[in-house]
Amino acid sequence: MELWDMKGHQLAEMIEKKEVSVSEVTRSVLDRIRSLEPLLNCYITVLEEESQTLARQIDKYIAQEGHPAPLTGLPMAVKDLICTRGVRTTCGSRILDNYLPVYDATVIQKLKDQRYLPVGKANMDEFAMGSSTENSYYGPTRNPWNTERVPGGSSGGSAAAVAAGEAIVALGSDTGGSIRQPASLCGVVGLKPTYGLVSRYGLVAFASSLDQIGPITRDVQDAAIFLNAIAGHDVMDSTSVKREIPDYTKALVDDVRGLKIGVPQELMVEGVEMKVRDSVNQAIELLVSLGAFCEETSLPYLEHSLSAYYIIAPAEASANLARYDGVKYGHRARGSRNIREMYKKTRSEGFGAEVKRRIMLGTYALSAGYYEAYYGQAQKVRTLIVNDFRQAFQKYDVLVSPTSPTVAFKIGEKVDNPLQMYLSDVCTIPVNLAGIPAISVPCGTSDGLPIGLQIIGRAFDEETILRVAYTFEQYFGFNQSPPLTNPGVQLTEDQKSQVQMSGEGRRR
Ligand code: GLN
Repeated sequence: MELWDMKGHQLAEMIEKKEVSVSEVTRSVLDRIRSLEPLLNCYITVLEEESQTLARQIDKYIAQEGHPAPLTGLPMAVKDLICTRGVRTTCGSRILDNYLPVYDATVIQKLKDQRYLPVGKANMDEFAMGSSTENSYYGPTRNPWNTERVPGGSSGGSAAAVAAGEAIVALGSDTGGSIRQPASLCGVVGLKPTYGLVSRYGLVAFASSLDQIGPITRDVQDAAIFLNAIAGHDVMDSTSVKREIPDYTKALVDDVRGLKIGVPQELMVEGVEMKVRDSVNQAIELLVSLGAFCEETSLPYLEHSLSAYYIIAPAEASANLARYDGVKYGHRARGSRNIREMYKKTRSEGFGAEVKRRIMLGTYALSAGYYEAYYGQAQKVRTLIVNDFRQAFQKYDVLVSPTSPTVAFKIGEKVDNPLQMYLSDVCTIPVNLAGIPAISVPCGTSDGLPIGLQIIGRAFDEETILRVAYTFEQYFGFNQSPPLTNPGVQLTEDQKSQVQMSGEGRRR
């Protein structure tokens, strides 16, 4: 087996036993990036030199000090909206094309304490708005399972990198599904933690009441290890919660006996593809055969999640994105006669179509005459959704559903139809509105494209969803290898011509 194809915990063990060096692991992943990146476009910035230098330093450290931490030296993709000091952080946007943060996000600081090894900043939908990574100024990322398909989004670069061996683990962010949905479409594991568990300090804000950072990994064990590294209270984030953080790897027990599982019928909606529905039902049967109790249930207000989200998220985004004015940092339009014109031109050329759409939606929803009718109403609906979940969790330990109603769709298929695109997140958005945790694990394929099972838990009960996901994974046996896993993969002429179709901002 190639090093780039291994799980994080397997590599960590080999590194600890000195069977392999961090430099070797890094080289293997960088080779992989070199051969596949022209096709997949998982990264906006690849840290080729830096990661090799860092790998040598880490090897030296291990030789001298011994014990590496669980994430020490594991090549990681960092979604490009997480601030990394001195390393360009674009948010997939032209407006931040030249932005060099002067500080590290708290998660980065925590990972640095473990001597993590970033190999690049991962591609994403601009400001995390999207479900396909097509809204990136740096061109779309391709799905390693089928390069004519999207990897999902907005953390599509992170998920595709982990699936293709261009990273061992990755950081993503999830506002309405952006960790879970791309994980599902790329056949990897994605975990959105409870709101407040992981610090948002240094995460460029999209919708502050919904955003959470979380891991994208090759298996559930890696997700638990990763969560151990990033969870915890942070004085720099006033919404981060003070509480005891358990060792999440202790939750990795292969046992669901007696567990009560609810299946919300509102998440098995009309648009769920037949094959997705079948796989999720089979997954449920498997859990039942392992001793879980499972029944259909109803959370009636969930059906209004999408409508509430597309008021609340744009409203918060319109406020958060007001800071990009060409004055403080980021792109500034040239040749303006006065400051008003400069603001206008900067924002008009700096933001892409989807971001502008959200700013307009949000500004409208918050305007004096409409505030109560839209934003006020949406907040009330949000409370009803929170209550629905609260009630359901009095009866059930976890809820399960498809992660995405469809498998990966074709690049270009939904770009001109924002409503269709928004539907990609029907199953994931309610979870963000309620602030609770959920994980996506692979549960099958349809025509060679992965399907994801979503497991939703009570607030701060990451342990139970990890346990269910872990148990499922032990018995399900998913073949994780996308067709691109041959070591010396050569691009076909067709694939090479796909590469030409790339974003404006790509590698200038
Ligand atoms: N696709 C959803 C949106 O466009 C969610 C994105 C996210 O989770 N960042 O808003």
